[in-house]
Amino acid sequence: MEDFADHVEHPRYGSVPRFTGLDPNPDAPEVHLHWNTGCLTQAQIRTMERLLGWCPAFPDDGTRVVRGTAVAADLSRQTPATVPVTHYYDVDKVCRDCGRRFIFFADEQKHWYEELGFPLEADAVCCTPCRKRLQRVARMRARYEQLVHVPLRTTEETLEMADCCLGLIEEAIFHPRQTQRVRMLLNRIPGDRRSEQRFQELKGRVRGAETKGKVDRPPNGGPATGSGNSGVREGLPAVG
Ligand SMILES: [Zn+2]
Repeated sequence: MEDFADHVEHPRYGSVPRFTGLDPNPDAPEVHLHWNTGCLTQAQIRTMERLLGWCPAFPDDGTRVVRGTAVAADLSRQTPATVPVTHYYDVDKVCRDCGRRFIFFADEQKHWYEELGFPLEADAVCCTPCRKRLQRVARMRARYEQLVHVPLRTTEETLEMADCCLGLIEEAIFHPRQTQRVRMLLNRIPGDRRSEQRFQELKGRVRGAETKGKVDRPPNGGPATGSGNSGVREGLPAVG
């Protein structure tokens, strides 16, 4: 039995594979496994290439299928696919974001492809905590962009914008110098709202981000990490 102690915990499925004792023969004509198992036959790969126009590449990063963990699929519930999948397997993977190992569970895949309606071509590339964090970052970015374009922001909206901006600095998406913008936003909050907990909390966080920005920045005002005027780091990893 392999050691899964270092694997990232999934809030619903845990961190250890679930052995079902089911292990269909991937070469059998009635069996078609997900490409993320790396167990497709040459004929199946050719079929996928022909029907999809692309060949899903099995990652060369230590990804491996965990034998004996198969779960039968309900093909009628899958999004109509070019090549339906007959069984899901627990797949032991490496998170593209944090580099830790995690299991993409057979039951989780069943949930993705049969309950949530995800296309079978989709695959998990990040562990659950990283996925959640990336989704949160995407939400903050979208909301921030929205609020930038509001001409007359309410106090609530200004606080929310400061909150998003700070969150994006804390996630190293925005450059630390964007704390100046947060300060500007907080300066617009009327005096009678400044004793509120939310305002005080934001002030504490902006001080924290400024301190951290000074520590991270090279001395003598050299260039810090991050790009140009927008302060937006390009190339966000894909959300799996
Ligand atoms: Zn991760």
